Amino acid sequence: MSNSDLLQRSLAAVWHPCTQMKQHAAGSDAAPMIPIARGKGVWLYDFDGRRYLDGISSWWVNLFGHCNPRINAALREQLDELEHVILAGCTHRPVVELSERLSALTGGSLGHCFYASDGASATEIALKMSFHAWRNHGRHDKTEFLCLSGSYHGETVGALAVTDVALFKDAYAPLIRAASTVASPDARQAKDGETPVDVARRAAAALASHLEEHHPRIAALIVEPLIQCASGMVMYDPEYLRLARALCDRYEVHLICDEIAVGFGRTGTFFAHEQAGIRPDFLCLSKGISGGYLPLSVVLTTDAVYGAFYDDRVGRGFLHSHSYTGNALACRAALATLDIFADEEVIAANRLLAEHLASCLRPLASHPRVRHLRQRGMIAAFDVLSDDERFAERFHRQALAREILLRPIGNTVYFMPPYVLDSEQCEFLVAGAVAALEATLAA
Ligand SMILES: *Cc1c(COP(=O)(O)O)cnc(C)c1O
Repeated sequence: MSNSDLLQRSLAAVWHPCTQMKQHAAGSDAAPMIPIARGKGVWLYDFDGRRYLDGISSWWVNLFGHCNPRINAALREQLDELEHVILAGCTHRPVVELSERLSALTGGSLGHCFYASDGASATEIALKMSFHAWRNHGRHDKTEFLCLSGSYHGETVGALAVTDVALFKDAYAPLIRAASTVASPDARQAKDGETPVDVARRAAAALASHLEEHHPRIAALIVEPLIQCASGMVMYDPEYLRLARALCDRYEVHLICDEIAVGFGRTGTFFAHEQAGIRPDFLCLSKGISGGYLPLSVVLTTDAVYGAFYDDRVGRGFLHSHSYTGNALACRAALATLDIFADEEVIAANRLLAEHLASCLRPLASHPRVRHLRQRGMIAAFDVLSDDERFAERFHRQALAREILLRPIGNTVYFMPPYVLDSEQCEFLVAGAVAALEATLAA
């Protein structure tokens, strides 16, 4: 097998996600698709022996490297016990243990776990549960949702309702029952002399006036805590989450924290919402949950929400289902991932790694074409002044030439590496990105 063999077959038979396939046609000058033969740690290898440092954790899912020995061993063991069983009317050890451990990580406040296979489905579940819980309480008027501008909560027709990214949403507008949006607390919007906390308070004031007027019809507010990842690693102060929690309580609106991207230690704490000292009514998790191995998502919720469905009448139950709900292999990968967190003091180790990443990136702060260098935990980003519409694609290609896999979002270059990155690899990643930046700007 060679790169070009597999590439040709892939372009003929596979419709790739988030891709204009024509850009991969022969003769196109777009970045080539990379056929990956294997992975080890932070590295991906193609069929021709080239390597690439996975600076984006394979779409933000990988935590402890590719082909992680501990997760591999756990999965091998699980394969000989049980691969999957229907989760309606049956249960199994990995799903029970995972639910207990995830609940414990929320201090027991979110004690009920409902599973699906991907992030968008977790969003749909949280929206449906919120609506249905209010309905079971006789609040039939609560049929609307609120999200932040620039939010991303997945791309199924239901999840697009609370996603505010034109590129993903506009074409489907006639299909979507759009939610209302309120201002994002994006710290980059600070006016002269304003701190990120000031911006957060300003956005919370806008949320307060929206809720004051519309709360009887609103079931839930959905947010990505601390970082709106897909709209360009938009970072904001935890103060916003504190104020949003208080407003949701005051106006009887559920708070949904979508930690699909920011959970599992990404922002420096195990869950991002911990930094605000709050708990949501619903917590959506996916991506890193299985260490980047298998599709799995979960929505955790409170006794109060669970209680709203607990009844003699079947129709008051939450009758949602997915075929692979609570897949045993995926749950076992998640348990192995949690074992690594527990045994290797990952959060503390990440703190040092994040500091090293910050010091590698620091010189960029004074680069004449760089704005808003920002970081929270294991996510760092900066915006590039460039009016090249194809900046992201050109940068991506320049990075690949330097053995680095990075995919800017528009003019925002970001780093979201696996936690097993060592200091030397961290320096390699940033040096390669800086060289790719210079080459892209010079072209
Ligand atoms: C990726 C993502 C989703 C959607 O997850 P999928 O598994 O891609 O459907 C939802 N919310 C956030 C914050 C995400 O980053």
